[in-house]
Amino acid sequence: MAAMGSNRVRDVRALVLEAPRQLVPRELPLPEIGDDDALLRIEACGLCGTDHEQYSGLLPAGFAFVPGHESVGVIDRIGNRAAERWGVAVGDRVAVEVFQSCRSCDACHNGEYRRCRRHGLADMYGFIPVGRAPGLWGGFATHQYLAPDSMVMAVPPALDPVTATLFNPVGAGIRWGWTIPETGADDVVTVLGPGVRGLSALVAAREAGAAFVMVTGSGSHDRPRLEMAMRFGADLVVDVATADPVVELVGATGGLADVVVDVTAKAPTAFAQAMGLARPGGRVVVAGTRGVAETPGFNPDHIVYKELRLFGALGVDSRAYRAALARLAGGRYPFESLPHEVASLNGVEALLQAMAGEAGRVPPVHGVMVP
Ligand SMILES: [Zn+2]
Ligand SMILES: [Zn+2]
Repeated sequence: MAAMGSNRVRDVRALVLEAPRQLVPRELPLPEIGDDDALLRIEACGLCGTDHEQYSGLLPAGFAFVPGHESVGVIDRIGNRAAERWGVAVGDRVAVEVFQSCRSCDACHNGEYRRCRRHGLADMYGFIPVGRAPGLWGGFATHQYLAPDSMVMAVPPALDPVTATLFNPVGAGIRWGWTIPETGADDVVTVLGPGVRGLSALVAAREAGAAFVMVTGSGSHDRPRLEMAMRFGADLVVDVATADPVVELVGATGGLADVVVDVTAKAPTAFAQAMGLARPGGRVVVAGTRGVAETPGFNPDHIVYKELRLFGALGVDSRAYRAALARLAGGRYPFESLPHEVASLNGVEALLQAMAGEAGRVPPVHGVMVP
């Protein structure tokens, strides 16, 4: 028997992406909850570049589905076994991981649950077809279904739900800017891309003890983001549209970067820039996707001559998520003052377009849906 929360509703309001650029409001029945699962009442869901790639059709997706994969909410109903497994009860605020884990295959045992045999990349929240019962597999809704293999994390009480949705980008920053390149004290770090993931990688590098952190952006719409990077502790910011980042870095530090983290989106030239910024023997983390195979200016021989170490980075793991929630609650960085824009369910579509620069105005750094 599942423990019940208050505020009973009969139907769930959700946005269903039926085809590219067809995001339709739908009412879905409230699911039955058993011993092993739970229902989340969504308080906030972060928007990210992936949401727009699904929306625009750039990312091949299995339509139709409820998008949204950065959910924070309150446990509305939960089965006894699920409550024990996750260590949470009705009324607790939690964040939901994107991936699911069977907790028993080799990949899951190694913490590599992105490669879980049962779930893997196909079973991510915000990607699962609405046709699979109970349909509530995404955060752009009033409620989200928490299946037995979901991974939920308690949100520290000090954290408001809108700021808490940053668990995903901040977790990515910790994994990409710290754990994967093993950033340490005295490292010179360069972060390519000043969006919320770039700022998060900057924070992670600072927390790792980096001696110097440079952040790059491109063009006028990145300028407010580069100013924000200074507030988050960057030593130097560079607009690559008007200055050569290699010249700027050498001018400021006398050398090249030990660690380069590329979190740019749709910036084909960033790859060659990352190779140019890395010192011989340097570590380069490639986390931004380009959407095209061309890499202008890139010469593979540079990897050989410089003996570079390249790391591809996809997604976040539990350790980084938990570290992210602790950093967000710690209050050392001005995450609450990150320029954000909140939209209701009805406003999600317009906000997605604005974040992709389709609205003819400077895109907000962080977009959040509050139903
Ligand atoms: Zn995302
Ligand atoms: Zn598994």
